[in-house]
Amino acid sequence: MHEQTEDIWADRYDRQIRFAPIGAKGQARLANMRALIVGCGALGASLAQHLTRAGVGKVRIADRDFVEPSNLQRQMLFHEADALAVLPKAVAAAEKLRAINGSIEIEALVTDVNSMTITAAMENVDLVLDGTDNAATRLLLSEACFARNIPFIYGGVAGAEGMSAMLIPGQTACLRCLIGDEASVEEELNCDTAGVLSAAVDFIASLQAVEAIKWLSGNRNAVRKSWVVADLWRFSVREFTLPGCTPGCHICGGLADENIVQLNLPRSESIARSDVLAHREERKHRLQAGTDETPPAHAWSQTLAVALCGRDSVQVTLPRTFQLEQWQVVFERLGYEIKANRYLLKIGLPDGERLVLFPDGRVLVQGIIDADKALRICVRYLTDPLEMQAEEEART
Ligand SMILES: [Zn+2]
Repeated sequence: MHEQTEDIWADRYDRQIRFAPIGAKGQARLANMRALIVGCGALGASLAQHLTRAGVGKVRIADRDFVEPSNLQRQMLFHEADALAVLPKAVAAAEKLRAINGSIEIEALVTDVNSMTITAAMENVDLVLDGTDNAATRLLLSEACFARNIPFIYGGVAGAEGMSAMLIPGQTACLRCLIGDEASVEEELNCDTAGVLSAAVDFIASLQAVEAIKWLSGNRNAVRKSWVVADLWRFSVREFTLPGCTPGCHICGGLADENIVQLNLPRSESIARSDVLAHREERKHRLQAGTDETPPAHAWSQTLAVALCGRDSVQVTLPRTFQLEQWQVVFERLGYEIKANRYLLKIGLPDGERLVLFPDGRVLVQGIIDADKALRICVRYLTDPLEMQAEEEART
């Protein structure tokens, strides 16, 4: 911070410090804390803003997506210019967050958080907040948090309804114990059809953010030990006491209380069928490998195609990287419509689908929900650029 401007910001946290449970001591604690927010869509953008304004010392945001016009209705950190520039959400969010609070550290990761990337994403954090839109990632985060003894603050929204709970290793059950197995999840609604209202998102984000602030400011006894289900349209709020660790669960059962009774909690509405399938695939690999432990990273994520909840898109993770400039030249020569920045390359294909390439080998195939078709499109268009060039030259 600039020396001469320091005084201007001296009372930045004044109202928060005046709040007795936080005080100067809690504020100082916040400044030394590090939080990871996975997913920077509607929930994630609100969460990031709360934590940034509150003065959490380091806020890391991870997101795999870029800003589009349909996000602006509810994703509070983004502007029209971000959508026009097809900026990755993590980058666009970080820019705003740094402008909001220059005294903390904001770190943006443009990545899909999966079994290959989760270790790096979770490095040196005290807490993980759920801003995702799918069960597979949530289950992965819950498992990783319990393995590292870090709290996980779950949140999910669809329509005008949402749910939230703070899951604490050694104290509460893990997410898998709470939202059940794949078969039951599969029957649920998903956000493809439910839509979502921004006010409902903010309500759930607030539930998550306040627990994060309690935990990170040292008010751990104040943490709400319940699963909240809220419907903002009909207005109802229900609260269920969170069960403790489940005996026999390989994720949360290590410190089990033998007398815990399982609650029959409602399921997440935002769990898409595709997530279930992705998760089932993961589980199949585990079982084939003769173990129910987390599979080695390469076992199922090498070429993974996952339909994205509510996005009319399939994410394909290829075991390669992309030199974006090189590919831009190739597709420009083909006369395809291109949008590019230093983080991604978006290509309009002749049949109406769009390809979005990220340097880490990820591809979003937009305009379809069929994972097999998405893979076929990738094979067709993303063979080696020099080959494509030669093919094109031969044709003309
Ligand atoms: Zn469990």
